[in-house]
Amino acid sequence: CGIVGYVGSRPVSDLLLEGLHRLEYRGYDSAGIAVMTDTEIVVRKKSGRVGELAQLIKQQPVVGSIGIGHTRWATHGETTDENSHPHLGGNGEVVIVHNGVIENYDSLRTQLQTLGYVFRSQTDTEVVAHLIAHHLGEQLKLSDSEPGVDVCLKAVHTTLDRLKGTYGLCAMFRDCPDTLIAARSGSPLVIGVGKDEYFLASDASPLVGYTQDVVYLADNEVAVLQPSKMTVAHRTSGSVQPSIQTLDQVS
Ligand code: GLU
Repeated sequence: CGIVGYVGSRPVSDLLLEGLHRLEYRGYDSAGIAVMTDTEIVVRKKSGRVGELAQLIKQQPVVGSIGIGHTRWATHGETTDENSHPHLGGNGEVVIVHNGVIENYDSLRTQLQTLGYVFRSQTDTEVVAHLIAHHLGEQLKLSDSEPGVDVCLKAVHTTLDRLKGTYGLCAMFRDCPDTLIAARSGSPLVIGVGKDEYFLASDASPLVGYTQDVVYLADNEVAVLQPSKMTVAHRTSGSVQPSIQTLDQVS
């Protein structure tokens, strides 16, 4: 239902929670965040209000300056803590938030289970997380390389090629800790451009007051966000020069 993301140097837990509060008006049943700490990806999520998530995070703080957050409106799988987003893939190499519906999730789930992937939720979204982890592993085997941005991006593209349905999604990678990769097909995403920081959201409301410079991602575009760098590419036609627009501030 709602997505927020951030790369930069601000304390990210509070920023994500504020963004989720601003997306509450859209309606939702669960909320969660994932934060890149110094050593690992940490997820805090639960069914219920953003205020309850904020309480949980107060009790179990998580410190970092890169992260993603989500308010869920359940379509596949009941409203439970486990089904809340973000969802980890593989052994925690990747974590994602997703808006929309993956129509072919059932066959993908069966294929991934055959390969040994263990599902922790009943959502359609979790197949995307495991698929990215799977293709990341395949890439690394093939290229015998370190898991840099190019490898992560390739894994996302290969995954998107296998999805039927709608998505606005954002992925964060354990071994690429300064990077978010966002993609959309049928579900909106907007990037807020700051100085050595980028914001991501499913609508502009979380960006208000942080930046007026925004890039609306078009369908089939994939964005790579790092604190001082943004690249956008179309899934088939390649590199895109992002058009920065000015957000009309709501007074
Ligand atoms: N289909 C996903 C789920 O049920 C995402 C729903 C949403 O857009 O919030 O978890």
